This record gives sequence, C-alpha cells and structure tokens, in this order.
Amino acid sequence: MNADARFGPGHRILVTGGAGFVPSHLVDALIARGCTVVALDNFVTGSKENVAHLEDEPRFSLVEADISDGLPAGDPALADRFDAILHMASPASPTDFEKLPVEILRVGSAGTLHLLERAVADGARFLMASTSEAYGDPKEHPQRESYWGNVNPIGIRSVYDEAKRFSEAATMAYHRSRGLDTAIVRIFNTYGPRMRPDDGRAIPTFISQALRDEPITVHGTGNQTRSICYVSDLVRGILLLLDSRETGPINCGTEHEMSMRQLAETIVSLAGSSSEVTFITRSADDPEMRRPDLTLARELLGYEPTVLPEDGLRRTIEYFRERMV
Ligand code: NAD
Repeated sequence: MNADARFGPGHRILVTGGAGFVPSHLVDALIARGCTVVALDNFVTGSKENVAHLEDEPRFSLVEADISDGLPAGDPALADRFDAILHMASPASPTDFEKLPVEILRVGSAGTLHLLERAVADGARFLMASTSEAYGDPKEHPQRESYWGNVNPIGIRSVYDEAKRFSEAATMAYHRSRGLDTAIVRIFNTYGPRMRPDDGRAIPTFISQALRDEPITVHGTGNQTRSICYVSDLVRGILLLLDSRETGPINCGTEHEMSMRQLAETIVSLAGSSSEVTFITRSADDPEMRRPDLTLARELLGYEPTVLPEDGLRRTIEYFRERMV
C-alpha cells in the first residue's frame, strides 16, 4: 500500500459485481492492501470461481444479491458502515446488451440509486464504474472527458450507454445536492484473465477461436479501432482515483489503439494458431474508433499504464489455454 492510500487496513469496502472479471481483480488488490471487502453479486455474468481463492480469507465476504432490488436487509456482512462503495456491477458485453437489456437498465439506474443512498447514510466515498461507451460512436478523437458523446438513445447498445450515463448523472446529483464524496471512472476496453471465453467481446472471442484453430470472426471490415488495457493497469488506475479527492469523470485505459483486424492477427500469431481471419456482419452503432485522452488521469492521479499489448495478450492467451477442455 502506498503512503498516499486513503483506504487500507481497518477500512470496509463494498464492491458490487465483485465476482466479475474486473471487479474480482479489484477485490484482490483491496484485500492485499489490508481492507475488509464485501463483494455483492447476483452471478448474472460473474462467477464464484473468480473469488474462490478468497474463501478462507477472514477479511472477505461474498453476498449473493441483485443490487437493482437494493441491499438485502439483515445480512451481517452489510450491517456495519462502509468507508467506500465501488459500483462495478453491470453486464458489459455486446451480447449482454441483447440478452439482458432490462437488467442492464435496472442495475445502472435503481442499483446506482440504492448504493448512492447507502453511501450517503454511511458517509462513504462512492466510485462509479462508467465506460467509454458514454461517448457512443465518438466524433472527437481521442476522447476527452469534456466530450459529451454521440449516443443513439434508442439503439441496441443504448441500454448500456444510457444506463451508464444515467449513473453518471445520478452520481453528480448526489455529489452536488447531498455533498457526497464521489468519483466516476470511464473505463476503456479492458481484458485479461477471468474474462468469460463466450462473453462476446472481441479479445476472449478471438482467443477462443485461435486456440481452437477456428476462423477468427472480425466484425465488418475490421478497420474499427479500440485501445486495449490489461486489467492490472486498470485496477491501478481505479485505486489511484479511489484514493484521490477527485470527482471525475476521469478516463482510464491505454493509448494502445489498434484495428480489430490487427488485434485478430496479433492474437493468431501470439497463440501460434493456424486460424484464418474472416469478416462477418458488423452490429449496429458499433463505434468506429476509441482512444482515451489520458491527460487528466496523468495530471490528477499520476496514472501511467505499463503493460504492452503483446505481454497482456500473451498472459490472457495462457489463462484461456489452461482452461480449455
Ligand atoms: P463482468 O460481467 O465480468 O462483471 C460484472 C459483474 O456484475 C458480474 O459479476 C455480474 O454477475 C455482476 N452483476 C451484474 N448485474 C448485477 C446486479 N444487478 N446485482 C449484482 N451483481 C450484478 O464485466 P466486467 O468487464 O468485469 O465489468 C465490470 C464493470 O466495469 C461493469 O460495470 C462494466 O460496465 C465496467 N466496464 C468494463 C469495461 C471492460 O472493458 N471490461 C469497460 C468499461 C466499463
């Protein structure tokens, strides 16, 4: 734990979605700092396996609940005051947008409001996991936090984009009207171990296909870009924001921008696969390009991502390879 950390031994932290990909890595980092952590999850896209290694950790508890219905009354793990609440719960992959549209809207609206109320009652710092999708299909490149975005409010992706935008608005409303200590992080495409192989996002899909020597299915021409961030860099950025007094929103990710075609070719090569890269129909409103402007993260938080795409992808490929049946 670094000397500037606001949250460490003796602090109680609630992480919603704690059994998910990114949140479970955050839980690990908070436990490593000496915090007491309660992970709350309904396992709609997460898995108990992601936190199974913490089963015997006395400073860790796992509560099964749907945060859209509120915090369950009477659960002993939730009884005492929290020092910080990290709202990380939400399905987040494009396939989830089609399968779980109402669930996504609820967790990003009712779920957020329940947690904001609890944060006010506890006097806790509230950190909202927002997304680069708040910028929609951006007309500004790279995306600065001051950009208001270009979101189709009724498109197939709108359930996610607008739920996160509502969460941002709600967070700022509680900050302004109730004096709540809040922070918003806009997370750009993050990958790493504990992603679901079938979650529909490009990196796990391409890796699963490459490891089976199946055709890699790139959407559209494959010229659309994303800037990919290994999960350890994101976790460090989120903790820097948590420890700060900043409200945000602050972008977190990397400037490693690459086209989907390049990403597919890199994965095929790193996996030693014989897969061919193929092209399928692109989904509606798929953003054309995506790269964060990291000036605020650097200046206000001292954030600097360190993992190169080749290294992060290699580690992720190994994780998937070990789990292949
Ligand atoms: P994930 O699906 O692995 O994690 C989300 C977790 O939230 C899962 O464990 C899921 O079961 C849980 N959850 C969903 N709805 C819930 C509810 N109503 N009540 C309780 N638990 C619920 O996805 P992830 O990629 O780890 O994303 C974590 C957070 O980060 C999400 O809020 C997502 O929007 C945000 N984010 C992620 C990325 C990324 O690239 N991974 C990018 C932008 C934003």
